[in-house]
Amino acid sequence: MTSAQPSAPQSAPLPASDALFERATKVIPGGVNSPVRAFGSVGGTPPFMASAEGAWLRDVDGNDYVDLICSWGPMILGHTHPDVLAAVHQTASKGFSFGTPSEHEVALVEEIVARVEPVEQARLVNSGTEATMSAIRLARGYTGRSKVLKFAGCYHGHVDALLASAGSGVATFALPDSAGVPASSAGETIVVPYNDLAAVEAAFAEHGDEIAAVITEASPGNMGVVPPRPGFTAGLRRITTAQGALLISDEVMTGFRCSPAGWYGLEGPYAEGAPDLFTFGKVMGGGFPTAAFGGRAEVMQRLAPSGPVYQAGTLSGNPVATAAGLATLRGCTPAVYERLDVASKAIAQATTDELSRAGIPHRIQWAGSMFSVFFREGEVRNYDDAKDQDTAAFTAFFHGMLRGGVHLPPSAFETWFVSAAHDDAAVNRVLEALPAAAKAVTDSFATIRP
Ligand code: PLP
Repeated sequence: MTSAQPSAPQSAPLPASDALFERATKVIPGGVNSPVRAFGSVGGTPPFMASAEGAWLRDVDGNDYVDLICSWGPMILGHTHPDVLAAVHQTASKGFSFGTPSEHEVALVEEIVARVEPVEQARLVNSGTEATMSAIRLARGYTGRSKVLKFAGCYHGHVDALLASAGSGVATFALPDSAGVPASSAGETIVVPYNDLAAVEAAFAEHGDEIAAVITEASPGNMGVVPPRPGFTAGLRRITTAQGALLISDEVMTGFRCSPAGWYGLEGPYAEGAPDLFTFGKVMGGGFPTAAFGGRAEVMQRLAPSGPVYQAGTLSGNPVATAAGLATLRGCTPAVYERLDVASKAIAQATTDELSRAGIPHRIQWAGSMFSVFFREGEVRNYDDAKDQDTAAFTAFFHGMLRGGVHLPPSAFETWFVSAAHDDAAVNRVLEALPAAAKAVTDSFATIRP
């Protein structure tokens, strides 16, 4: 698939994907196993992928796409990287799961601890959701308090208490955003606007002795990329320390991607001190289901079996998944981070050039090599700003790019990810697709607003 110039899909019909989607909708709710994959916000049938290599995805109809999703972050080295594949083959040939301790899990946690200085100990789990869920339980167990403060627009997985994001007023108790989340659970969550320290102060003034933890995306990427303003993270540390609450930095998306030590490596250390707990996922699993939470040993020691906070998992530390994660982290050399920078900058620059030429209002925001394109002007500081964009323009752009053989995340609120395998051929495919995608947007303006 990495042979010169793979063929771009020329037309919309995807008969094999359509047939699979029809089958899928009969047996899988909405036809997908994670909602955003269904193209709900952009319309159309999602291509079903048959294989992936390097920067490219191939669908079941034989079309190739440059992948700017990268499995929502994990594939930092590109798909089916030879070293990761070899580690998986070698490990799997010796057993899939033991249900006992094994060496790979020790080596993976050592690798994490070596990279992120404030993390003295970590526990492996199977998903980012489990990591944040467990970190919250640990914070509650450690402090003896029950409430959690989170920021509107930050996503921490589908943990009941963390699904709440509605209500951006100061110290607003969020209503459940999802059916099935009991009010008692959502009622333990306080949601405030991101990048607003005054709102955090006000929430603590009202509920200070009840708040176990503040959880924040280290640099949010789930409302598009909205980095912390200077001093925001340090301010969270100052407030939480003064109030006896823990600070949890969710690096599931940014960890080991923004830098070898994630967002902390770019912004830290803070004079006010490091976050107490970190959560990781995505890159550290290399495309397999493994994730982690970790932090100061004194806090982590409260976990069972050394402490009273229970947390467990049949497949936690799975040998094949940890081998893939370890090979991926070890493959993240300085040259890999340099290539991520070069490829992301080339794609972002060409995107802004093309959108500007077409007179389409937009703004690009960054966190390391992670970036996203908002179809609006002006700085995006929080979820309200992010929602105030032209999602119809994104939809037209998305489908234009897809027709040109570039698979963007199918939502205006997602980060674009590149890998070290995004070479010049992949970047050129993106560049070639841009003019028609920009035209699709201006055509949509004419249709929607004649
Ligand atoms: N935290 C952040 C910042 C994420 O971006 C995600 C997923 O996108 C999660 C947690 C949940 O991870 P998972 O999907 O592995 O459960």
